[in-house]
Amino acid sequence: MFDKQTVELTSNRQPIKIHLVSTGAVSVKTKFREASKTGLLAMLDFILDRKFTEWMPIWVMIIEHPEGIFVIDTGEKADVNKRDYFKSSGIFANWFDTTQFKFDVEPKEEIGPQLDQLNIPVNTVKSVVLTHLHLDHIDGLKYFPSTEITVNKREWERPFGDLPKLYPSWFQPHLVELNHSYEVFEHVHYLTSAKDLLLIETPGHTYHHCSVLLRTDDVFVFFAADICYSEQQIKELKYSGTNASHKMAKDTYERVIFFAKKNKLVFIPSHDAAASQRLTELRPLF
Ligand SMILES: [Zn+2]
Repeated sequence: MFDKQTVELTSNRQPIKIHLVSTGAVSVKTKFREASKTGLLAMLDFILDRKFTEWMPIWVMIIEHPEGIFVIDTGEKADVNKRDYFKSSGIFANWFDTTQFKFDVEPKEEIGPQLDQLNIPVNTVKSVVLTHLHLDHIDGLKYFPSTEITVNKREWERPFGDLPKLYPSWFQPHLVELNHSYEVFEHVHYLTSAKDLLLIETPGHTYHHCSVLLRTDDVFVFFAADICYSEQQIKELKYSGTNASHKMAKDTYERVIFFAKKNKLVFIPSHDAAASQRLTELRPLF
């Protein structure tokens, strides 16, 4: 449904390849994607909303970097459509996840087969980096039982809306502390020794949600995960119906906008269909 894209750039004059692949599609309530209220009222609004959005991608970004291959998030898997998939997470989660979302994921769209298609053997992946612990970002973990999985320690300690019953039994991520700062971002972890790939705390959607920033010689590529659902949303200061903290979400918007006005930054939310085209054209947020 969503074509994959590959762009070739350089960092410190060394080649870098970025692939954006969608692990199927997701649809949410229109008022879940964009709310006019906040907190519980926003939740009530989207639960009562009868309208679903168009199908949206579930992007995973793969970076072939001189220091190794990084997989940013792992996307969804086909099992999500099984009738009993959410049962183990309890009555509320089962009801919520089967009535508020729709998924369309084929086995060949899972991250494993997509890496095969790109001729990237799973055992050559240096690290899987998770932006946060929501299911549609971690369900592809099943392909990486022997890979280092990097997670923000604070997201692990205080998740929001995760379903631990559905984690793989072996899941014990490598927890990192984001104790550096970078420009306007106060909690940062460098994923490479070249310091060109950064895990950045961008809270709001969850209390310790992260984005991944890649600095290349031409542009910054910003994998924004679930900061918002589209580029338009951050430009118009519109918010989704499901933030752990609206105040944090607002603060994150301000910081990203401030940075993007000073630097050429390609903005890639996880569920923005237009993001792949912007990546191909290296079209910046501002
Ligand atoms: Zn999420």
